[in-house]
Amino acid sequence: MNGFWTEEQVALMDSARSFVRAEVAPHLQEWEDAGSVPRELHATAAKLGLLGLGVPEELGGAGGTFLDALAVTEAFTEAGASSGLLAALFTSGIALPHIVASGNADLVDRYVRPTLAGETIGSLAITEPGGGSDVARIRTTAVRDPSTGSGQAAEYVVNGTKTFITSGVRADFVTTAVRTGGPGHAGISLLVIDKGTPGFTVDRSLSKMGWHCSDTAELGFRDARVPAANLVGAENTGFAQIAQAFVVERLALAGHGYGIAARALALTAAYCRERETFGKPLIANQVVRHRLVEMHRRVDAARTYTRAVAARHVAGENPLVEALHAKALAVEAAAYVCDQAVQLHGGTGYLHGTEVERHYRDARILGIGGGATEVLDDLTARLLGYGA
Ligand SMILES: Cc1cc2nc3c(=O)[nH]c(=O)nc-3n(C[C@H](O)[C@H](O)[C@H](O)COP(=O)(O)OP(=O)(O)OC[C@H]3O[C@@H](n4cnc5c(N)ncnc54)[C@H](O)[C@@H]3O)c2cc1C
Repeated sequence: MNGFWTEEQVALMDSARSFVRAEVAPHLQEWEDAGSVPRELHATAAKLGLLGLGVPEELGGAGGTFLDALAVTEAFTEAGASSGLLAALFTSGIALPHIVASGNADLVDRYVRPTLAGETIGSLAITEPGGGSDVARIRTTAVRDPSTGSGQAAEYVVNGTKTFITSGVRADFVTTAVRTGGPGHAGISLLVIDKGTPGFTVDRSLSKMGWHCSDTAELGFRDARVPAANLVGAENTGFAQIAQAFVVERLALAGHGYGIAARALALTAAYCRERETFGKPLIANQVVRHRLVEMHRRVDAARTYTRAVAARHVAGENPLVEALHAKALAVEAAAYVCDQAVQLHGGTGYLHGTEVERHYRDARILGIGGGATEVLDDLTARLLGYGA
């Protein structure tokens, strides 16, 4: 299995596993119950070079490529972290890419560097109560106030509501999709909005089926005045910027999927060796062994495929269809494997605090967040030319 990774990546994974065993696993249930991850964890992860993998060091990142980030995801889940923990600790992975790609030195200094140093937390706010799948229809508006001119003092006035925003309760700033132009995707921009901006409120902390340690917010903007200097990239190019980050976002969520599935499988295989029914270990039953094999097959297929697609992405290709397939395969693997893991743990698998129960609940979001399976399949059909 290690044959895929370089020596540096193997060392990085060792360090990530040690971090999870020492700093995460002993506290995870407490954070699940509290509904959030402590801010200090970000600083500790940053010191170990675990935040900002794939972001150049000149911009405050840890260097390396997305493959390093994927290696860390595998190591985290192998050592007992959850998909929710990954979502909360690495929200920078969705909040910052557009700022990094914009090359805007001022925004990099104000948002990218402190976040990747673990000092601040950022979120990405696209989804609205009216719908998340159809990004082109977002309704939150940002209107330039002509009285503020076009120089340093220029401001947008933002109105609208965002929902389901990961780390939105804790976030110091939110990279927000807003409508600056006409209807459809061509009228969308990205604007960074600071916590503390008058008119910007965290209206609700949402309670969820899974991802319990990852706080999720509903955010309100009522005449919130935001400096035009916080615009990411050119006005009305937000949709293209969001789309540009899709390949990495989908591969990252695929990593969550096969990562928690691999962990659930390992826990289940160990449990089946130890647990006895009818006077023999569970694993002595052929039907149980076959189930474990099926679980392994699905994890391995999703993992091997995702790694290969990630390698192609890092090599400079644009594997759009393959990244969509990777997410779909990993979502299915996670759903099947985590379900079977609970089944083979029996009543114990249904108890809060049993790790496979957490993975079972966490797995459910993966086919909804980052694009619902049906919406992504539709996109895949279009990319493959299977149009109606
Ligand atoms: C825990 C969590 C964290 C999240 N984090 C973030 C975040 O950080 N930032 C952010 O912006 N968003 C976030 N989201 C929002 C997420 O991206 C959306 O929930 C997702 O895009 C689906 O949007 P929706 O919930 O509005 O569902 P809808 O768009 O209302 O769709 C509902 C369901 O209908 C089906 N469907 C939709 N369209 C079609 C179609 N054309 N054909 C067939 N079936 C269809 C799908 O099954 C879909 O799940 C998060 C969501 C959750 C639950």
